[in-house]
Amino acid sequence: MLSASKSADVIVIGGGCEGTSIAWQLALRKAGKVILLEKRGIASGATGFSSAIIRTHYGHEALSSMALHGLRIFERFNEIVGGESGFRRTGFLVLFPAADAKAASGAAAMHRRIGINSVFLGADEFHHIEPRTTRDDIGAVVWEAESGHADPSLTTTSFANAARNAGVETRTGVEVHRLVAPRGRIEGVETNDGTYSAGTVVVAANYRTKDLLKTLGIDLPLNPMRHTIAIVERTVDFGPLPPIVADRILGAYYRPDGDTRTLIGNVNFERGTVDEDVETAKPGDRQEIESLVERFAQRWRGQDSATLARSYSGVYDCSPDLQPVLGPVGGVDGLFVAAGFSGHGFKLSPAVGEMLSSAVVGERSKIADVRLFDLHRFARGRTIKDQFTYAPAPLPTPSPTARRSG
Ligand SMILES: Cc1cc2nc3c(=O)[nH]c(=O)nc-3n(C[C@H](O)[C@H](O)[C@H](O)COP(=O)(O)OP(=O)(O)OC[C@H]3O[C@@H](n4cnc5c(N)ncnc54)[C@H](O)[C@@H]3O)c2cc1C
Repeated sequence: MLSASKSADVIVIGGGCEGTSIAWQLALRKAGKVILLEKRGIASGATGFSSAIIRTHYGHEALSSMALHGLRIFERFNEIVGGESGFRRTGFLVLFPAADAKAASGAAAMHRRIGINSVFLGADEFHHIEPRTTRDDIGAVVWEAESGHADPSLTTTSFANAARNAGVETRTGVEVHRLVAPRGRIEGVETNDGTYSAGTVVVAANYRTKDLLKTLGIDLPLNPMRHTIAIVERTVDFGPLPPIVADRILGAYYRPDGDTRTLIGNVNFERGTVDEDVETAKPGDRQEIESLVERFAQRWRGQDSATLARSYSGVYDCSPDLQPVLGPVGGVDGLFVAAGFSGHGFKLSPAVGEMLSSAVVGERSKIADVRLFDLHRFARGRTIKDQFTYAPAPLPTPSPTARRSG
C-alpha cells in the first residue's frame, strides 16, 4: 500500500523556474495537495544558467502579453511572491537592420496597444538612450524603458519558498522514471523513491519532458541546443551602466552583469550544438566565446580591450517552432506539460504558472489562451507563427583573433 506521503492531488515534476512557479500558483488556486519532485536541486537545470532577461518584445501578441504579465510580477516580486528575484531595471534596446524597420515598427505598435512601454525609433534617434554603440549598420531600434533582468536562482528559490509557504511539499533527490497512465488517465509516477500517486501530473522537466512523455508513447519533438555565454570586464572608462541590447544585426545580446561586466549571448535560438547530456555543466565553446567577444567589441566603441572574465554554457529545449508547449496532453486525462521554452522561458515563468495552474483547476487564464501552445500542434502540422517577422539573425564566423582572458 502507498504511504500517505506519496499520495497527492497534483504532482509537479521539475524544480526549475517553470515547475516552482506552477506549484506555487496551484497552491494559490487551492488545487489540493501538491508535491513537487526534483531529481537534483531547485534551479539546478537550465534555469541556473539563464541570462534571465525580462523583455516584452515578441512578434506574437500572446507571447508579449505573457512577458508583460511576468514583467509586472518582477516589478513587485517581494510583495506578490515574497522573497527576492534580483530584478534590475536597465531598459532593453533592440537594434534592427533597415530591412526589419517596418516589422519592428508594427511590433512596437502592437506592444503599445496591449500596454507595453515600447518606442520605435529611427537609426538617428536613439543617441540619448545609448550613445556608445557603433551605428552605421543600424536601420531602426525599439526601446523598452521598463525591461531588465533578474537573478534566475534567486527567483526560483523564492517561487519554491512561496510554494512551500502555501502548503506545497517539495522533494529534491526524487527522480521520476516513468509516468503511470494505464487506462488513458494519469494515476501517478514511478520514481527512485517508489511510486507516487496523483490524479494530476504536470511535467515541467525541460528537455527531459521528452523522455518522460515517451514512457506513455507520446512524442514531444524537442532538441537540446547547447549555447555559449561569455562575460567580459568592460574597460574602466566605459561610464554608466548600459541597457540590455539585443543586436539583431550582429546576432548577439549584451546584458549588464553586476556594475562592470557585460554578459554576451547569441540572439539566434538555433545557434548552438545539439547535446543530450543536458545535466552536465560544460565550458563554453572556444570559437563561440571568441565570436561573442568580437561582436561585443564591434558594437561598443572603445571595447576592443575589454577582457574575457568567464564563460560557460547552458542548454535550450528547442521545440520545432521555438515556442513553448503548454497545457493538457490530449489522450491522457490529468496529464499536463510545460516545456519546450526554446531559450526564452524565464521571463514567461510567472505567466506559465498562472496559465498552467488555471488549466489544471479548469479555469481559463486571462493572460493568453493556453490552447495556442498545445503539444499536438506539431503532429497536426500547425506551428505558432509570429505576426511580425524579422530576417533571421546572422551566424557570423569568429575572427581568428585570440583574446586575453582575465
Ligand atoms: C544560457 C541560457 C540563457 C537563457 N537566457 C534567457 C533569458 O535571457 N531570458 C529568458 O526568458 N529565458 C532565458 N533562457 C531560457 C530559460 O532559462 C529556460 O526556458 C527556463 O529556465 C526553463 O525552465 P524549466 O523550469 O523549464 O527548466 P529547468 O530549469 O531545466 O528545470 C527542469 C527541472 O526538472 C528536473 N528534472 C528533469 N528530469 C527529471 C525527472 N525525471 N525527475 C525529476 N526531476 C527532473 C531537472 O533537474 C530540472 O531542475 C536561457 C536559457 C539558457 C540555457
